[in-house]
Amino acid sequence: MAERIEVLLTEEKINTRIREIGEQISKDYAGENIHLIGILKGGSFFMCELAKRISVPVTIDFMSVSSYGDQTVSGGKIKIKKDLDEDLTGKHVLVIEDIVDTGRTLNCLEALLKDRGAADVKLCALLDKPDRREVSVAVDYVGFQIPDEFVVGYGLDYAQRYRNLPYIGVVKFD
Ligand code: 5GP
Repeated sequence: MAERIEVLLTEEKINTRIREIGEQISKDYAGENIHLIGILKGGSFFMCELAKRISVPVTIDFMSVSSYGDQTVSGGKIKIKKDLDEDLTGKHVLVIEDIVDTGRTLNCLEALLKDRGAADVKLCALLDKPDRREVSVAVDYVGFQIPDEFVVGYGLDYAQRYRNLPYIGVVKFD
């Protein structure tokens, strides 16, 4: 089936918002070190751009958990596919995710990382689809709230494609 991509958020709009979130995070964590945990693969583009806008010291690590695969519906539970390299004891952890949908991924991750001895765990997502929430999760920093549409770009894929788009677009099937 042929698909086309309709622009939802331009590169310029995303860059401006990332700059704002970076400033907010830098204020909130003044005097602290932040341990950023990027959720692969989708969160990696956002993580790199955001890290450059944070002015307090940061360290980074990555984790990969199972998500949608090649489908456009949620799979439910999460599975760790690649675990962290660093220990979390006493660290101020900030999880960087591409999108919050049902809330399951961040809800599970928050509990898991707190359990590993982090001093605190906060959550940051570029996109939020509030209409799709199934599990309650308090996301501390959100880039944009978007309608219930399947989006790609800026790290987000459809069957592993489109991650490299510098904007966020909606997949339309004609
Ligand atoms: P949740 O656990 O909140 O339901 O799902 C979060 C994960 O689902 C995201 O990290 C992402 O991989 C995937 N996801 C949710 N909505 C979308 C979407 O619109 N587009 C893409 N490409 N992935 C999505």
